[in-house]
Amino acid sequence: MNWSVELKDISDQQLEQALSLANIPALMATLVHFHGSCEHLRGDIRPRVVQMAEEEDGLTEEARQTARQMALATLKAYRDGGCPDLPAPDDSMVAETMQYITGNPFPQEQLELMREELNLFGEDRRRVDLAQEQVPSGYRVLVIGAGMSGVLAAIRLQEAGIDYLMVDKNPEIGGTWYENTYPGCQVDSVNHLYNYIFAPNRAWPAHFSDQATLFDYFQGVVEAHGLRAHARLATRVNSANYDERTGCWRVRLEGADGSPTEENFNAVISACGQLNIPAMPEIPGLERFAGVAFHSARWEHQHDLQGKRVGVIGTGCSATQFVPAIADQPASLSVFQRTPNWLMCNEEYHQPVTPEELWCLGNIPFYARWYRFFLYRARAMDGLLPFLYAENDWPGQPGSVGPANAELRAVMEQYIREQAGDDTALAEALIPDYPPGGKRPVLDDGSWIRALGRDNVTLVTEGIAEIEPGGIRTTDGVLHEVDIIIYGTGFHAQQFLSTLHVTGRGGRDLHQSWQGDPQAHKGITVPGFPNLYLLYGPNTNIVVGSSIVFFSECEMRYIMGCLKLQFQREIDALEVREDVCRDYNQEIDELNRMRAWGSPQVSSWYKNDLGRVSQNWPGTHFEWWLQTREPDPEDFVGLAGQPALRESAG
Ligand code: NAP
Repeated sequence: MNWSVELKDISDQQLEQALSLANIPALMATLVHFHGSCEHLRGDIRPRVVQMAEEEDGLTEEARQTARQMALATLKAYRDGGCPDLPAPDDSMVAETMQYITGNPFPQEQLELMREELNLFGEDRRRVDLAQEQVPSGYRVLVIGAGMSGVLAAIRLQEAGIDYLMVDKNPEIGGTWYENTYPGCQVDSVNHLYNYIFAPNRAWPAHFSDQATLFDYFQGVVEAHGLRAHARLATRVNSANYDERTGCWRVRLEGADGSPTEENFNAVISACGQLNIPAMPEIPGLERFAGVAFHSARWEHQHDLQGKRVGVIGTGCSATQFVPAIADQPASLSVFQRTPNWLMCNEEYHQPVTPEELWCLGNIPFYARWYRFFLYRARAMDGLLPFLYAENDWPGQPGSVGPANAELRAVMEQYIREQAGDDTALAEALIPDYPPGGKRPVLDDGSWIRALGRDNVTLVTEGIAEIEPGGIRTTDGVLHEVDIIIYGTGFHAQQFLSTLHVTGRGGRDLHQSWQGDPQAHKGITVPGFPNLYLLYGPNTNIVVGSSIVFFSECEMRYIMGCLKLQFQREIDALEVREDVCRDYNQEIDELNRMRAWGSPQVSSWYKNDLGRVSQNWPGTHFEWWLQTREPDPEDFVGLAGQPALRESAG
């Protein structure tokens, strides 16, 4: 069937077929535009999203059928009427529809966030506009990193008319989506939310698209915004030193040929990510292995796995993606699991978006906006967060941190048992003893346990004693002979900005001042380091729900607000107050202790060597949005006595 047909030309039969796969809450919301009223939302068809329920929208099949018939009649009439322009619904209709879509009303105070996220007419309310005359002449910003956050930073700066340079150590833009090319690599946030608010993609081929598609998306955004003219690739930032005399950052860059240059910037935005320095395990004998060995984030595609004996160390989000993708190739595949991961069922995980769904997204006016909004409300806002709250002295320990967490544990345990079927030993090996949400759960549609159940695949739960030239020896004395070892052992996440040397006011060294415990105000600004901004900095990571793109967008709005503040006050340097940053982090620490990932039962990369949760944001989605809407001038020291901004960074 030809799905390139437009709404004005579609046949009745084809329209009916397309609607048979439409998301009903989104479809009902879309009809508001056609009906010019919300009357049809007030009847019996009422979605009710309940976390962990089987039917996501809580509707009966009969209700869905009625909704489809209503939509079919409406769209046929619209088509037959020549597809006229639709009148814009008024604010109260939009608000009622937003309240309707998941059946879970939100408080009035969240209305602005909802409008922003819905972005119904492409308003892009997260953009911060600066009057051209506000930007001092010659003002220039360095953006370190050209991944998702760096590209976002570049776009926001460009929109505001601020000159910038975006550098990346890689020869290509894309960050994570450039570096991770392992088989099976795909996004693990629902894709319609894993895109910029100002660049929604209605044509994602899958609900969780693969690396190549994500890479293409970011390339497309870069081209559409003409960012390449401001990008310097294959270039490392070695050091950034704040010069109090000039109020500028003196930055040392190193090009692909090793030649260093020094340039001045008024502000520096680090967008160098948390998860891109591969962590190799400290296993004795690792360097003595005689075969091929590589890390999943540096996949060596030249090695054919066919017929080989392969060992995989690690069972985190990366390994659970690549093991099912390669499992049919090796003669034997031994998967070494130190700690099992909680699996979170998502049947769409490897599903393409059907031609019918793509047609609805691309052709029914406003449907794609409401579909995204449904996903946002149903899955992204806080998702399972309330199930990860800890209670002091919870008697259900170990294995859970509170009553809701115990409930979640029961559901997730049941899922693993169902997947493992008769193999109860496998189920026992795969059920974590730590609370759900202690680590990021692995999305799953059954592919992980299916892969582990293959005849050529063995799950090894015995600890690793050492690596020998011929293979991996476990603590029970068995040598698992392998030709290839693949390390799915994660990243050095806690070493923020570790590849560069940063000195701030008074020559203070960033890493020395952190003393192994990186902290920043709202994850973005650090006392003593004026005009230095971090994207995806300390305590900005999420474990369940939301999308990291949303987090970066909020952070970038805050940073733009800081620049605006600096320009308005005509100050050289904007620096967060020490006490403000300290108090903020104390609050964060208290909250993190009351989350599953802060539990003493959990050991993970979320905690640094001092045991502090240095990665995660413990609050709600709304709280994050609220606290990053704009900077509070009271939080900053204006560095009194400095002259106004200089004409040029020099
Ligand atoms: P990870 O979650 O840190 O997993 C590393 C794995 O290696 C764990 O199973 C760990 O076991 C194991 N390991 C580490 N050192 C070991 C040792 N010495 N001996 C035995 N096992 C060892 O790393 P990841 O899987 O790369 O994922 C990291 C993060 O990246 C994820 O949480 C997610 O946020 C992100 N990610 C996202 C995507 C996506 O969106 N597509 C894909 C992959 C990753 P322990 O648990 O016992 O430490």
